[in-house]
Amino acid sequence: MKQITEGVYFIPGQDGMIPDCHVYIIGKPSSGDLTLVDAGLMGKNEYKIRAIEKAGIDLSDIKRVIMTHTHLDHLGCLPEIKARLSQAEVWMHGNEAEPLEKGDERIAYGMKMFEGMVRTMFGKKPGAYSMKVDRRLKGDETLEIGKMLWEVIHVPGHSPGGIALYNPAEKILIPGDVVYADHAIGRFDFHGASGRDLNESLLALSALEVKILLPGHNRIMKDVPHGYILETEKQWEAYLV
Ligand SMILES: [Zn+2]
Ligand SMILES: [Zn+2]
Repeated sequence: MKQITEGVYFIPGQDGMIPDCHVYIIGKPSSGDLTLVDAGLMGKNEYKIRAIEKAGIDLSDIKRVIMTHTHLDHLGCLPEIKARLSQAEVWMHGNEAEPLEKGDERIAYGMKMFEGMVRTMFGKKPGAYSMKVDRRLKGDETLEIGKMLWEVIHVPGHSPGGIALYNPAEKILIPGDVVYADHAIGRFDFHGASGRDLNESLLALSALEVKILLPGHNRIMKDVPHGYILETEKQWEAYLV
């Protein structure tokens, strides 16, 4: 686990045949009110728990898991994490909480072909990810958690209930899979995705002043050039229709 700043910690994903997303821990260590951002792929629990313990963090200080979105590479590990952190609530955008609570897992699997393959590979029965969501986010909240302020921004397009978390004090953006380093953006061909929405979301994020970009995959950026997200949007906008 790497410290990005005081109050933001990074557990890199361990990709195999299927990607495993990065997980971030946010909250000042002294607050006793920490948040896990995303969970990762199924079967990828133990290395995270070990990393958290090795960093001297008390597992009972993790009060919630906030999901940037519920694709399987972010959600798959959530039941395993919940089994270890029973006190932790689950927060996510309503657009993804609602289907998930009803047992509709089409967003998690993204596409039919993938669903069949993954169910066979991991022995997952339908309904394995239907779960109770403790708080539905809208995307207009400012969360005061872990003695830090995090703005929630609804960024649909890669998935219908994608959210980004933004800390204005240190200009840190956690965009989920909406935008990555190297001018890459999230896929927009999954169930519930929309290129047009993704374009709007990129434009919304481009209005923020971002110094540190902590995406769901690939490398993180610690010194984001001014205008980076807008430049990325310009490179992709012709495809985002
Ligand atoms: Zn992902
Ligand atoms: Zn995704």
